[in-house]
Amino acid sequence: MNVLVLGAGQLARMMSLAGAPLNISISAYDVNTDSLVHPLTQQNLGTGLANAIAAADIITAEFEHIPLAILEQCQKSGKFFPGETAIKAGGDRRLEKQLLDSANVGSAAYHIVNSEADFNQAISKLGLPLVFKSALAGYDGKGQWRLKQAEDTAALWQKISAFLAADPQQSIVAEQFIPFQREVSLIGVRRANGDIKVYPLTENHHVNGVLSVSLAVAGNEQLQQQACQMFTALANKLDYVGVLSIEFFDLNGKLLVNEIAPRVHNSGHWTQQGADICQFEQHLRAVCNLPLGSTALIRPSLMVNILGEDAVPESILTIPGLHLHWYGKSKRPGRKMGHINLSAPNNAELKARFTQLINLLPEAIFPELQQMVNRIS
Ligand code: ATP
Ligand code: MG
Ligand code: MG
Repeated sequence: MNVLVLGAGQLARMMSLAGAPLNISISAYDVNTDSLVHPLTQQNLGTGLANAIAAADIITAEFEHIPLAILEQCQKSGKFFPGETAIKAGGDRRLEKQLLDSANVGSAAYHIVNSEADFNQAISKLGLPLVFKSALAGYDGKGQWRLKQAEDTAALWQKISAFLAADPQQSIVAEQFIPFQREVSLIGVRRANGDIKVYPLTENHHVNGVLSVSLAVAGNEQLQQQACQMFTALANKLDYVGVLSIEFFDLNGKLLVNEIAPRVHNSGHWTQQGADICQFEQHLRAVCNLPLGSTALIRPSLMVNILGEDAVPESILTIPGLHLHWYGKSKRPGRKMGHINLSAPNNAELKARFTQLINLLPEAIFPELQQMVNRIS
């Protein structure tokens, strides 16, 4: 099987690594340079997109901010999964909110802002505090503004109106601020025949808007059921094929969707070591119409992102149950360069190994890890 992945980052790389044993070979289309590259070496394969589409058995995507013309071109081939509608819903917060509403899946109350009248209406309808998010192209918390107090309203409108004026395609989605206890995500997979499997909920911790640590330990059955129900409603509504990821706010035991990602997800990287079949293989199985694998947690696991660094002390490799995954990318401040997966036979041992890891990592590069230790009980 030849699978063409739109996007040539670490997610395409890890799909390629997971696909190899199944004889699934991946080529990656770098949207930024309009070139087809090898997902591991980034070597330019010297083929145009049209030829790559023709040569592929299956087409999928590793990110959602893809030019509409390319989505259309892929959709026309009849080989594109999860397909244009799902990718667009992940890349445009207006469509995402419509989808959530139409599937009856709860999320923060919102108002679309295109004008000053809309902006004022959002404030009067939803109240403060508010989070304003760009409809298009937002990731890692970029393109977001907070409004906490009424006296900052005029200054914020100056910023938002300038942002809207610069791009007629953009809107702002104003959202009620949710005073959540924690953030969790669900990675699940659906096959064309309607089969669905979901991994256990993952607890996620962000630093400066970027995911820092994901923790997968056996959790609350009631929350898991809520999440699974919401996943099923969304995946069925989209007639989804592939891995779909959902970020939630946990508000007093009630889940509200923050956003969805129509792809494999950073908070699912722990599945490489914490589950029998990882999210990357699961996605390939679904889009290639193969039977899905087990999503059960086989041992308590966590993942730590390596941001903006191309080296970690090699001594961490002595920790049992630790796996280091580099993405082969050149170093840039804050860039996702790799991740560490850590697993253990039980929670107490995971906690001990995590403490060992933290003691070996430079604190300046991995801030706030210490406070995560107590999340494991
Ligand atoms: P990602 O890299 O996950 O795609 P993003 O740029 O799409 O990020 P969001 O996930 O929408 O951004 O928001 C980033 C973070 O901001 C969330 O993980 C959460 O911590 C906080 N946040 C977003 N929306 C709200 C809200 N309505 N209420 C409270 N906090 C919020
Ligand atoms: Mg996002
Ligand atoms: Mg997010």
